[in-house]
Amino acid sequence: NTPLHFAVMGNPIQHSYSPLLHSLFAKQAGLDINYEKMLVPLEDFESAVHTFFEQGGKGLNITIPFKLRAHELARGNLSRRAQSAGSVNTLWMEEGQLHGCNTDGIGMVNDIRRQGIALEGKKILLLGAGGAARGVILPLLESGCQQLQVVNRTAAKATELARQCQTNLPQYANIFRAGGFEHIQGQWDIVINATSSSLQHHTLPLPAGLFTQDSLAYDMVYTPDNNTPFLQQARKDGAGITSDGLGMLVYQGAESFFIWNHIRVNPVPVLETLRQQLISG
Ligand code: NDP
Repeated sequence: NTPLHFAVMGNPIQHSYSPLLHSLFAKQAGLDINYEKMLVPLEDFESAVHTFFEQGGKGLNITIPFKLRAHELARGNLSRRAQSAGSVNTLWMEEGQLHGCNTDGIGMVNDIRRQGIALEGKKILLLGAGGAARGVILPLLESGCQQLQVVNRTAAKATELARQCQTNLPQYANIFRAGGFEHIQGQWDIVINATSSSLQHHTLPLPAGLFTQDSLAYDMVYTPDNNTPFLQQARKDGAGITSDGLGMLVYQGAESFFIWNHIRVNPVPVLETLRQQLISG
C-alpha cells in the first residue's frame, strides 16, 4: 500500500508546521501518509495544484500568498466557510472536481471552546479586517454570540466587511457592527486580535477598561511562551484569560484532516507536542 499523499503549498514555506501536525494526526488515526512542504514559485501556483492532483495527491493546504488564488481555482465548489472567508486553505478532489474550504475560522472557534469558554451570548470584539479576520466572521456569527464588532486601523475595510455581511448574511445584520478603533466602547467578553500588530511588536490603540477578570483576550499570532505584545497589553488592562493562536493552527489542521480522511482526531496532545517543540526552539 502506498501512503496517502498530502502537501502544503506556499512561498515562503520553510516555517510551516503543517507536516508535523499532520504526521501526528495520522499516527493517532493509524493512517500511513506522506505530507510535504512545497515551495511554489509565484507564477506556478495553478499548474502546481493541477499537477499535484493529477499525480494522485489526496489533499492540499494552502498558505501565504496563495489563499485567494486557491479560492479562485475552486470557484463553483466552495464551502460556505470558504465563500464567506473569501480565501481557501484546504483543497481536495471530489467527483473529478477541485473543492475548497477555509478551516481557519472554525479552528479558532474550536480552540476557544477547548479552553472551556462558551461563545453563546457573548460580546465579541474582533480587531483587524484582513484575511484572517474575514475568515473567522462566519464561524463567530454562527457560534451564537450576542454581538460581534469588527474594528480596523483602516475603518473603511471594517465597514466593507459589515456591508458584505448585510448582503450575504442578513440574518446576522442586527448583531454585527463595524468601525475604527475610536468606536470601541464598554467591556467585552472576548477580544480577538486578528491584526499582525504582535508580529511587528506593536501594541494597539485600545481604550482602558475593555476587559474584566472573565474576559478572554485571544491573539492569532503565537509565541513559544503564549506572551505576545497584545496579550501583555490585555493582562495589564485586566483580562483574566489570555490565549495565543497556536491552538488555532492545530485545530484548523484537524479540520482539514477531517475533510480529507473523514476521521476526527484529538488535537489536544498534538498542541502539547507543538508547544513543547516551540519552547525548546
Ligand atoms: P493581512 O495582511 O490580510 O491583514 C493585516 C491586518 O492587520 C489589517 O487589518 C491591518 O490593518 C492590521 N494591522 C497591521 N499592522 C497593524 C498595526 N500596527 N496596528 C493596527 N493594525 C494593524 O493579514 P492576515 O489577516 O492574513 O493575518 C493577520 C494575522 O493573523 C497575522 O499575524 C497572521 O500570522 C495571523 N494568522 C494566524 C493564524 C493561526 O492559525 N494562528 C491563521 C491566519 C492568520 P489595515 O487594514 O489598517 O492595514
